[in-house]
Amino acid sequence: MRPQGSKQMTQVTVIGGGLAGLACAVALADHGVAVTVVERSDRLGGRASSWREPVTGDVVDIGPHIFHSEYHNMLALLERLGTRDLICWQPGKVLSLASKPTPTHLRHWPLPAPLSLGPSILGAPGLGMRDYLSMAPTGWRGMRFGEEQVAGLDRISGLDYFRSLGVTEDLIDWWWRFASMVVTNVPLERVSAASLMRIHAQLSGYRGLHFGFAKVGLGELYTEQATRVVERAGGRVIKGRGVAYLAGRERIEGVVLADGTHLPAQQVVSALPPQDLDAVLPTRWRGRAPFHVLPRFEPSPYVCVYLWFDRDIKAERFASHLWSPERLNYDFYDLSQIRRGWRGRPTVIASNIIYSHRAHHLSDAEIVHRTVAELAEIAPRAARARLLHADVHRVPMAIPCPTVGFEGMRLPAQSPVAGLTLAGDWTRTIMPCTMEGAKKSGYIAAEQVLEERGVRARLAIEARMYDDFAGLVRATVPGRSIP
Ligand SMILES: Cc1cc2nc3c(=O)[nH]c(=O)nc-3n(C[C@H](O)[C@H](O)[C@H](O)COP(=O)(O)OP(=O)(O)OC[C@H]3O[C@@H](n4cnc5c(N)ncnc54)[C@H](O)[C@@H]3O)c2cc1C
Repeated sequence: MRPQGSKQMTQVTVIGGGLAGLACAVALADHGVAVTVVERSDRLGGRASSWREPVTGDVVDIGPHIFHSEYHNMLALLERLGTRDLICWQPGKVLSLASKPTPTHLRHWPLPAPLSLGPSILGAPGLGMRDYLSMAPTGWRGMRFGEEQVAGLDRISGLDYFRSLGVTEDLIDWWWRFASMVVTNVPLERVSAASLMRIHAQLSGYRGLHFGFAKVGLGELYTEQATRVVERAGGRVIKGRGVAYLAGRERIEGVVLADGTHLPAQQVVSALPPQDLDAVLPTRWRGRAPFHVLPRFEPSPYVCVYLWFDRDIKAERFASHLWSPERLNYDFYDLSQIRRGWRGRPTVIASNIIYSHRAHHLSDAEIVHRTVAELAEIAPRAARARLLHADVHRVPMAIPCPTVGFEGMRLPAQSPVAGLTLAGDWTRTIMPCTMEGAKKSGYIAAEQVLEERGVRARLAIEARMYDDFAGLVRATVPGRSIP
């Protein structure tokens, strides 16, 4: 993979061994750069990590994660690391929604994008013709949506935006409150209309877009493999030792670890979440533009629940509750239908309590009790099955909240400090804060580091033009940008 003519280059430190940091380190290693990755935790992977659960011996993730078929950057990394076939795709059914009294199964019909999911929703209980007709303006705006509209829409909330488009309150409650929570991790009244519309446009604009899940622990997809690539290029991965602060005055000179060790570096990539970057900035940079925005990023916390049952409870592989103010859990995953070699085992369920403030006062036992009850609404046998074991993961931040104004706060890879490059899902990737966004940010940062060394490389993959009717409409927008 090393490009011809490039020579061994040294002295790049990447801070943070999550997806963004490891993706950046792999890309640099592939260009002959010996990188030092510094990760504070004993485990690599950050918010997309996994570990062996001590009681059951099963590998669990920090919380269940979804991939989708337009994750081109993420899938390119897995391809590079030889693990792309470890994603279990669900091409037929997109998702089952626990609408009452009957579930709504979202499937693609043989219709052009963005219409293919429409027929699945047409029969949904609780919605009528007025609600369906009120979808039309949002569908039209979704097809026309592109990055040139982000600054304008970032100033208003998703709720205000949909009301201004005449979407009925029933449809807002049925679909948009749910969609906002599960895809942006923020309630509809707080989400940036730009952040939500970007995801809406993407999910509806591509023909047959479908979801996938890791057949192994998330971290098993990339952490050890990335470490090997870095080490083969002469670099190293330091775990269990955090960076205390960045060293340098006018330009970066390296990092100082919490134990006082000084690691000199000509270039440093921060692949840290905003609050962690803020904590390691020297006082002369902290609070100054553009870093003054860092404390304003608000975490969206999660509680993730893992349940081991004594029998097969006949759950769906992937199902979700719709929005309601009292509800704890949204998405449920039956890992026995996902993990490699688990078929035939008694059911193991993972679920997400998103934007989980409403669960924080509850004990683990109360969370487990309510999660089993909410699961039983979807898979009634859960109520009669014996729960053998449960795990509750309290995650302080799944992603930074894309609230109103969020898109405008995201910082570009190039920082004003010479030699300091920024990466992480929250940076300006023109993508949502996801594994795909984190991965793309790592590639953008690697491009920046290489460019400073006189090497031009195109690593990050941009979103492609929407398909079918959605693509035709998008193509007519004057002055359009990606896609
Ligand atoms: C429960 C949950 C569910 C999610 N669901 C999905 C999903 O379905 N689909 C999807 O695409 N995305 C999902 N995400 C989001 C996705 O995991 C993140 O967007 C992505 O992993 C962020 O990667 P990152 O490298 O930018 O940041 P991180 O993973 O946070 O990496 C930053 C790393 O820096 C380290 N660090 C911090 N401070 C220091 C320091 N001072 N010195 C050294 N190291 C330091 C941290 O330990 C961490 O390892 C989910 C996240 C969670 C938590």
